[in-house]
Amino acid sequence: MFREIKVPFRIRINDDDFESTINEIIIHCMENRLATNYSLILTTKHLYDLYLRKVNIPNAKFVFITDTRISTILKVYNEYLLGNSFPVIVGIGGGKVIDAAKYLGFLKALPVISVPTTLSNDGICSPVSVLIDESGKRQSIRSTMPIAVIGNLDVIRKSPIKYISAGIGDMLAKISSLKDWRLAHEDIGENIDDTAYLLMHTAVMNLLRKLKYEIDNIDDVLNESFLNELFYALTISGISMYITGSSRPASGAEHMISHAIDYLYPHKSGIHGFQVAYGTLITEALRGEDISELVEIFKKVGLPTSYKELNLTEEEIVNAVLYAPRIRNRYTIFNRINLNKRLVKNTIEKVEKISQSINMKREYYEKIACYYKVRW
Ligand SMILES: [Zn+2]
Repeated sequence: MFREIKVPFRIRINDDDFESTINEIIIHCMENRLATNYSLILTTKHLYDLYLRKVNIPNAKFVFITDTRISTILKVYNEYLLGNSFPVIVGIGGGKVIDAAKYLGFLKALPVISVPTTLSNDGICSPVSVLIDESGKRQSIRSTMPIAVIGNLDVIRKSPIKYISAGIGDMLAKISSLKDWRLAHEDIGENIDDTAYLLMHTAVMNLLRKLKYEIDNIDDVLNESFLNELFYALTISGISMYITGSSRPASGAEHMISHAIDYLYPHKSGIHGFQVAYGTLITEALRGEDISELVEIFKKVGLPTSYKELNLTEEEIVNAVLYAPRIRNRYTIFNRINLNKRLVKNTIEKVEKISQSINMKREYYEKIACYYKVRW
């Protein structure tokens, strides 16, 4: 028996100039009878000035997204969408803009085209948006799955490299989330969607292979072939969630640690991809896996291998890991082990020791220090 799966009609990253990328979107909208009226384009003032001001987009209404508070997005809804009928919403920007576009598309039942200007997480093509509620906490909210995701290599390459590192971190977190899914299947008989699992597994393994054998230092992640791989991997992650009907393939105990940091210490919550990457080191260590190879890869691409790089104290990271199982009702490695303060402390210390034992090659250090302008 087959099943029907809706997938985006276009998933492409091109290396033309940005105007050609925009024109490609317009042509595809017309081909799909979407541009009969005019489009609502969400972006930021910065990106507008940098790229969009000089591009001729007929009849487009630009709206600048400043933040992802639900109240801000609802204001945009009331002001621009309530009495108007746009054929399509186009989000051109980073994670916040794409999340706003997907949520507005969901509220108004409109198709959404995602044009990511960086690759910081797997939200570029997923049916979930991360928005800020009235108490200042991040919430994952059901949204519209984009009908197309189109990236421009040149624009992505010019985005801050730490966001590209973060996208790698969000993808490597799937090493952990897929294990949790399998664990839930073995222990409590949770269903595994084979197609979604296979897609995600292939995407993360291909990326891991590239990171291992083709990436020597952080400069290499800007190579065309690597950015292509990361773009497709993050997109596939979103599609895998969409097929499953939940974030299960993409989010396990490592994401719960990150959500616990956001929940307990909202003033310290940082880049999602960094937090889930560090969470992956913890959950992998809790599973008894050898994490030295992963730590080496993390160091090459500027991902955190110590809680200190997340600006957390030892007490805060211990609290976050202990709180993580309460974040959501999802079977993970936390259900298999007896999670207690001593185990968590020992595990964190173990990660610290491995991190300290693997010296970052001087060339990695210099490159990363120069990009991030920090010392660690
Ligand atoms: Zn994630």
